[in-house]
Amino acid sequence: MTAITQYLAATGFKEFRPKAALIDMDGTLYDSMPRHADAWMEMCRQAGLDAEHDEFFLHEGRTGAATIDILMRRTFGRPATDKEKKELYAIKSAAFAAMPPVDPMPGAARMLRTLADAGITRVLVTGSGQATLLNRLDSDFPGAFSPGLRITSADVSRGKPDPEPYLRAMSMAGVEPWQSIVIENAPLGVQSGVAAKAFTVAVTTGPIPREAFVEAGASLIMPSMPDFADLLPTIL
Ligand code: CA
Repeated sequence: MTAITQYLAATGFKEFRPKAALIDMDGTLYDSMPRHADAWMEMCRQAGLDAEHDEFFLHEGRTGAATIDILMRRTFGRPATDKEKKELYAIKSAAFAAMPPVDPMPGAARMLRTLADAGITRVLVTGSGQATLLNRLDSDFPGAFSPGLRITSADVSRGKPDPEPYLRAMSMAGVEPWQSIVIENAPLGVQSGVAAKAFTVAVTTGPIPREAFVEAGASLIMPSMPDFADLLPTIL
């Protein structure tokens, strides 16, 4: 498969033998991004912060704290304090929680089952600290993730696009980069997976154009999660 040949050439690895899938949550497992953007806008309205709705698709993958810091610097010309990061993220989380529940991404359950059937370890890797969705994962995707195999905003000091979240996930799963598949929907998340030297799949589930994922260095770009679920057995 061309994508694998190109991945090996780009990384210098001799082989790609997937043992673990490191999987993003928002926009990948849940069709949640439009509602997150709405919740961010509500927080900005309450805090008097300048923002545009669609920019939140590009911030996607950052920790909430990092996004709040960018908004504070832009509007007030100074970094956000730790207290502000906490308080503002609580406002954003409450706004998200008050909205109607989001749906799982079509194809995501099938993708996770294919991984499980192939004996691939599944690790959740999200910049989110949003309990609303984290608490739903086990009922929406029963048995998809082994207990404890989860990296959230609380577990990293530097969020995506830094490689730290995916490097920590690899060490948690006990795998090397050439044994890892990252599954993402956002350019910053793809950058994080690529920087961690994983085979990084971009599933374009939102409004961001394909070129942004080429630029971010994705190993493979898929137009939808059902398409990726169809192709997955040939990668494994
Ligand atoms: Ca995402």
